[in-house]
Amino acid sequence: MTKTLAGKRAVITGSNSGIGLGVAEALAAAGAEVVLNSFTDRPEDHALAKDLGERHGVVARYITADMSKGADCRALIEKAGGCDILVNNAGIQFVAPVDEFPVEKWDAILAINLTSAFHTTAAALPGMKAKGWGRIVNLASAHGLTASPYKSAYVAAKHGVVGLSKTVALEVAGQGITCNAICPGYVLTPLVEAQIPDQMKAHKMDRETVIREVMLLRQPSRQFATVEQVGGTAVYLCSPAADQVTGTTISIDGGWTAL
Ligand code: NAD
Repeated sequence: MTKTLAGKRAVITGSNSGIGLGVAEALAAAGAEVVLNSFTDRPEDHALAKDLGERHGVVARYITADMSKGADCRALIEKAGGCDILVNNAGIQFVAPVDEFPVEKWDAILAINLTSAFHTTAAALPGMKAKGWGRIVNLASAHGLTASPYKSAYVAAKHGVVGLSKTVALEVAGQGITCNAICPGYVLTPLVEAQIPDQMKAHKMDRETVIREVMLLRQPSRQFATVEQVGGTAVYLCSPAADQVTGTTISIDGGWTAL
């Protein structure tokens, strides 16, 4: 792959697994320096960054910061030394009826999935403005555009991420900085993969049937999106082809939101 992002530093929040790690992988493959993040500080977190850096021949670091805490979000950008590309990806989920939804779960989902992106964006923008170039890529979801029952906090947070992306895009339009939201449907991450055996047992179905008839009921393609597809979309949003793509959403949902 051509190293189109050489000289750019990317910070990807929540990137020691799943989509965040896939996006970091794609940006590193395109030549970007990458900063991985999560709230843990284990040897394996730092090893992940070391391995990624060595494989792609780029500088790669892991910085611990808890995206549920505003001060940590801002410190992440500061410790990284600023960034040219900011990917707000950290996210959690909890499912319950709205009148039974635990307040602490609501607060955590709003903090990690939405408010963290406010703090990191606020911290990263001055540096991007000074350079006259920046890319902010927010991981929203099909649930940023449509709803499902029992996911009130997640749907509210992801709709908020789409709104924040549009607002930031307008504030920096014409300054070489873009801000967009990627809206995946179900992506086959280790987290989703781990649910398949239980679903097979619960529904007494084989793997292919449970994926098609239960898990991907709302995804017309009946196929998972992949972390590589999300990573490729992030690289596209950082490319010159996307210079005028800002304040919008890109769905990777097999047709879910066309229904
Ligand atoms: P995941 O659980 O594999 O990844 C979530 C990441 O966030 C992990 O690296 C985790 O360590 C990190 N994280 C959690 N709490 C944190 C905190 N307090 N501070 C810092 N990091 C924290 O899940 P994923 O499926 O890769 O999801 C990544 C993003 O993509 C999320 O925002 C999610 O809502 C979104 N998304 C996922 C799917 C899907 O089907 N997997 C679909 C649409 C959107």
